[in-house]
Amino acid sequence: MKIAVIGTGYVGLVTGACLSEIGNHVTCIDIDEEKIETLKQRVSPIYEEGLTELLNRNINQSRLKFTTDYREGLQDKDIVYIAVGTPQNDDGSADLTSVNAVCKSLASHLTRDVIIVTKSTVPVGTNEYIKKEIEDRLVNDVTIKIASNPEFLRQGSAVYDTFNGDRIVIGAEEETVLDALEEVNAGFNLPIVRTNLRSAEMIKYASNAFLATKISFINEMANLSEKIGANIDDVAEGMGMDGRIGGAFLNAGIGYGGSCFPKDTRAIISVAKDASYDMQILENVVDSNERQRGIIVDKVKERFDSLEGMKVAVLGLAFKPNTDDLREAPSISVTARLIEEGAEVHTYDPAAMDNAKNILSDQVNYAVDIREAVAHADIAIILTEWQEIKEFPLDEYKNLMNEAVIFDGRNCFTLKEAENSGVEYHSIGRPSVR
Ligand code: NAD
Repeated sequence: MKIAVIGTGYVGLVTGACLSEIGNHVTCIDIDEEKIETLKQRVSPIYEEGLTELLNRNINQSRLKFTTDYREGLQDKDIVYIAVGTPQNDDGSADLTSVNAVCKSLASHLTRDVIIVTKSTVPVGTNEYIKKEIEDRLVNDVTIKIASNPEFLRQGSAVYDTFNGDRIVIGAEEETVLDALEEVNAGFNLPIVRTNLRSAEMIKYASNAFLATKISFINEMANLSEKIGANIDDVAEGMGMDGRIGGAFLNAGIGYGGSCFPKDTRAIISVAKDASYDMQILENVVDSNERQRGIIVDKVKERFDSLEGMKVAVLGLAFKPNTDDLREAPSISVTARLIEEGAEVHTYDPAAMDNAKNILSDQVNYAVDIREAVAHADIAIILTEWQEIKEFPLDEYKNLMNEAVIFDGRNCFTLKEAENSGVEYHSIGRPSVR
């Protein structure tokens, strides 16, 4: 198939590269000239395992191209994916500015019949809206069909997930469109769920909202466990062994972040408001997550009266491991609070340092590794469970820090490890080790 993918962010770029890997001819279109230039040089603007290899292989075999020119990108294409960002408006609803811009560009540049597939996460009803927006403006006499194909990849394992996901959801009103998309996706060898447009859109929001709820649920159980003398590790293990519950997403921590869960939970609440329905559980999930992000600094403040002049090492800035993404990362609000409290903050993240410099600028110090960040620190705070951070021995904190006081927002170490090393160790939902 000949495919165009619009938007070369985390989703668009991975989708384009993976679709080319299974034999399609793909052109990725983006309005960001710098990004397209970088991609033409075979350099990935984002950190995703395996992506550079895919780019190299498929560019070499002329199956993957990049352009900023819609006319060039759409030429000869049978299928056009939309994968631009849909951030949130101030009221929590989805901001469709980029989607609207894409509709206008498509209406002006389409010269042949195509199926338009929306990968971006969009509120229920948006695919119908996209179809109308394009049709109302079409310059040439072409027919468009529309489909929803929500994306479930996880940043950090996006390429792996595309080939090993649990399911592919495709929604459309015509069987022929569903058949065509099933054919495109056949190369991924994954179970395919066929639905109508609105159900496909809803599956994406409902899935993310459920996962966010599961995270907030275990975080609240962790907070209570601390107060009543239970250990959340044991609680989660015992719960997760129940097949009806499942062990995934039962890791207590300082809350979810990233570009999806925060905005998608708010967006579905907003969709519900428009439908005059009160989403009570999700309203509480959003509030609970907000509170959870502050919990690690609350713990520090309980332990130390003042942070004025203290050296604090912040380890892990990305919203989760294996990504350089800082969107809605708890690290942003945590470091802001530490600075407000007068602390001198030294940060380290294996992949997100460049992005961090753009956001945190010169308010914090940037270390080259964990060792430099924690050297002579009074407090170390772990915010992302990177493998490198999990493997950095607790003994080293003891050797390098002034007083080895660690606040672990991701439960990277067992309590046994903490006890054996002799550090002071505070984590989430478990007794402190002193
Ligand atoms: P992103 O911000 O990383 O990338 C969006 C890209 O679209 C950017 O490169 C931008 O320059 C480009 N763009 C904007 N307007 C354009 C236009 N008019 N024409 C061409 N290109 C344009 O976004 P993302 O994280 O890849 O997310 C894309 C969508 O996928 C969102 O709706 C998101 O909710 C959804 N999603 C994201 C993830 C994830 O893990 N990031 C997972 C599942 C679904």
